[in-house]
This record gives sequence, C-alpha cells and structure tokens, in this order.
Amino acid sequence: MKLVFATHNLNKLKEIKELVPSGIEILSLTDINCTEDIEETGVTLEENAKIKVDYIKDNYGYDCFSDDSGLEIDALDGAPGVYSARYAGAEKSNEKNIEKVWAKLADKKDTSAQFRTIIAAHIDGETFQCEGKVRGTIISEKRGEGGFGYDPIFIPEGYSETFAELGKEIKNEISHRAKAFRFFISSL
Ligand code: IMP
Repeated sequence: MKLVFATHNLNKLKEIKELVPSGIEILSLTDINCTEDIEETGVTLEENAKIKVDYIKDNYGYDCFSDDSGLEIDALDGAPGVYSARYAGAEKSNEKNIEKVWAKLADKKDTSAQFRTIIAAHIDGETFQCEGKVRGTIISEKRGEGGFGYDPIFIPEGYSETFAELGKEIKNEISHRAKAFRFFISSL
C-alpha cells in the first residue's frame, strides 16, 4: 500500500515512517514531484487538513493523508488555533507568536490550553479524520531548548517541565501529533 503524506516537513515524515507497519510505503510530496505550496485557506484545523488531501487526490490521484495542528488556549476562545504558525504575522516568528500569547493572557487567570492535531485521509475511496489532543498550561517564561513553536511555554498535564524541556522522546510519546498518528495508523 502506498500513501502520500501531504507535507514538506521532513521531521514529520520521519516520525510517521517510524510508526507505520511494514507493507505501508509512505511517500512525501517531493517523492510525487509536488513542489507547490498548498494554500491553507481554511478557518479550522479540520478544513485545512481536508484542503491538503483533496488537493493531492484531485491533482495527483494518490491515496493520502495530511495533518494540521495548533495551540488552543481556553481563555482566548481557542486562539491561536488554526492561526498558530502566523499568530503574530506572516513572517511566522516563534518569538513574536509567544510574545503575543503572553500579551493576550496578561489579564487572564486561567492559562489552560491544549495542542490539537487533525489528520485527514483519502484511502480506498473513503474520507476520514482522526484527532489527537494534549491538555496543559501556558507559563509566562520560556523554559527549555528543545522542540519548536510554543514548546518552551507549554507544560503538558501530569508533568512539571515544558515540552521543550521534556525532550523528543517523551514528547513523541504524549504529544497531540503522536496520538493522532497512532490513532490514524490503528484505523488503517
Ligand atoms: P502544523 O500544522 O504542524 O504545521 O502546526 C502549525 C503551528 O502550530 C506550528 O507552526 C506551531 O506554531 C504550532 N504547533 C503545532 N504543533 C506544535 C508542537 O508540537 N509544539 C509547539 N508548537 C506547535
């Protein structure tokens, strides 16, 4: 079985390749000569994940899946959510995004939040979606050197370290993306 993972992100590609059982070959967008950026114009994670798989199915004909993730902060009604990468502007600066989160939370007591991943798939004529979530809290300082994005300010429930401090091994066990990937693979 061949499945295209609709991403240009090599880290994500590596992560999923390590999880899939033998017999399933994962192809990247580069493998199918898709070099264009698929525009993510949806207003929800679900819409963006669907846009990517629809594009690959319609233009390249492959069975495929895609993922879309975001940080959802309770006191901000789920923001930055689908806009997590470009919360503070199109330059997609992690620093500026974190500063904006802190500014928005300045007068809030509740800093609970979650990371959420949606995986959308087109397989054997069927379309489906899987979800993975991890709840936690946002802190007002950056801690840790690992990870990316909002990792230095997010402490997952049950831990006292941030995602950036916990390191790749633990994060890959408990993260929203890992949960969604595992759920997706078990449903194949
Ligand atoms: P993507 O859909 O996986 O590209 O994620 C979109 C944006 O959400 C990223 O650019 C980050 O800002 C944020 N994000 C998603 N997953 C994580 C994570 O595991 N740690 C920190 N930030 C994340």
